[in-house]
Amino acid sequence: MYNDTMADLIQKQKHFYRSGATRPFEYRLRQLKKLREALIANEKQIIEALKMDLNKSEFEAYSTEIGIVYEELSFTIKHLRSWMVPKKAKTALTHFGSKGRIIPEPYGTTLIIAPWNYPFQLAVSPLIGALAAGNTAVMKPSELTPTMSTLLAKILGSVFEEEYVAVIEGGADVSQELLAQPLDYIFFTGSVNVGKIVMQAAAKQLIPLTLELGGKSPCIVHADAPLKLTAQRIVFGKFTNAGQTCIAPDYLLVHRSVKTELITCIQEAIREFYGPDPLSNTSYGRIVSEKHFHRLASFLQHGNVVSGGSTSPDNLTIEPTLLEQVTWDMPVMQEEIFGPILPIMEYDRIQEAVDMINARPKPLALYLFTREPEIEETVVGNVSYGGGCINDTLMHIATPYLPFGGVGESGMGAYHGRGSFDTFTHYKSVLKQTNLFDFTFRYPSSKNGLKYL
Ligand code: NAD
Repeated sequence: MYNDTMADLIQKQKHFYRSGATRPFEYRLRQLKKLREALIANEKQIIEALKMDLNKSEFEAYSTEIGIVYEELSFTIKHLRSWMVPKKAKTALTHFGSKGRIIPEPYGTTLIIAPWNYPFQLAVSPLIGALAAGNTAVMKPSELTPTMSTLLAKILGSVFEEEYVAVIEGGADVSQELLAQPLDYIFFTGSVNVGKIVMQAAAKQLIPLTLELGGKSPCIVHADAPLKLTAQRIVFGKFTNAGQTCIAPDYLLVHRSVKTELITCIQEAIREFYGPDPLSNTSYGRIVSEKHFHRLASFLQHGNVVSGGSTSPDNLTIEPTLLEQVTWDMPVMQEEIFGPILPIMEYDRIQEAVDMINARPKPLALYLFTREPEIEETVVGNVSYGGGCINDTLMHIATPYLPFGGVGESGMGAYHGRGSFDTFTHYKSVLKQTNLFDFTFRYPSSKNGLKYL
């Protein structure tokens, strides 16, 4: 859908929004429930699409995509009424007699641009926030996961009129057409480079936006960490979805004294989770495209492969791979890896690790494995990053109680749970003045302080 038709669609949505239909609590609740019913009814097709596009196993499909969306829906349905209540605000002494209110108000017509790596969850989670907050929405799924893109268009098209929710399929050109429309809010998830393009497009019309971007998320393993457990949690975080996770540990910073033992534990965990030959494990994810496969395979030309390293161009799979003797100037340490390759670097003092991270763009996630509170304080208190875990990986993204988002180059804004409602809501401050008296001293001609009316 291009040009006039796209402009028509946005106008249709704006018209529908202005009718006030999307604002009442009952309407929003009904739509969220309709969405939940439709997703449940299509669960099998969603699992099949994830298998087709990314070879996601049913277990991963449920635990990292569908389950998170259901949780988000239930949480939102449960709390929506309370989130929508305007808040009374105190007034300053200078405003005596007046009352203040903060009113949550939808933005209007919103655009959601989604990536391919969690093509269901990262498209539908923001949609839940947009609808809960009373907006209309246009969704643009990723062209790199075409089965899911078409399925989302079909499911959402069967539940909602396009004046309320519409799915527009296509690639960068379609995205750009959409970004040129007079939107009221943009929610973008994707790469840092495209994030900059989206922000420039938004700036042309001063459209407020959220950017959920990526980057290199470090994982620090201190000398006192329980290595077997740590290794399992790292392997889970790194090799789920074949490493194509925005918050996957990108690289390890390991205390020199435990490096060798940690590597052994990681190798054991890989064997335990994926078997002796992960490339023949049908539940192990594949790389999304040939372009990404070759980009990842080229990373293996530098450094020293400690384990893994095999690739299968026919299946677009890459073995879980550990890489050491890497330096910051190698391509693998220059860009976000976004695949099943884990470089390992060492440090002797925790401050070295902190300095290495602080010398680079602010990460989306950071993971730290330690039992020592001082080490925790040194890292959490001195490094700026979107969010993360102590003694775990990924799990901070999967709870509606923690807003999720980046900072600096890894993004701006946050969502999930109440955070999603807030993201898609403008909080309007309104002061209601009394007509019983007036503070006339503020008028240039005033001689008196207070005048009764
Ligand atoms: P991408 O930036 O290439 O694409 C994301 C979306 O933008 C797609 O829908 C695509 O069609 C569209 N797009 C691509 N080029 C465009 C352009 N020039 N103008 C306008 N739109 C354009 O990202 P991707 O490869 O799909 O996803 C991987 C990236 O996303 C990684 O960097 C990853 O870290 C990041 N990511 C972040 C999060 C998060 O929650 N912060 C989640 C998943 C992925």
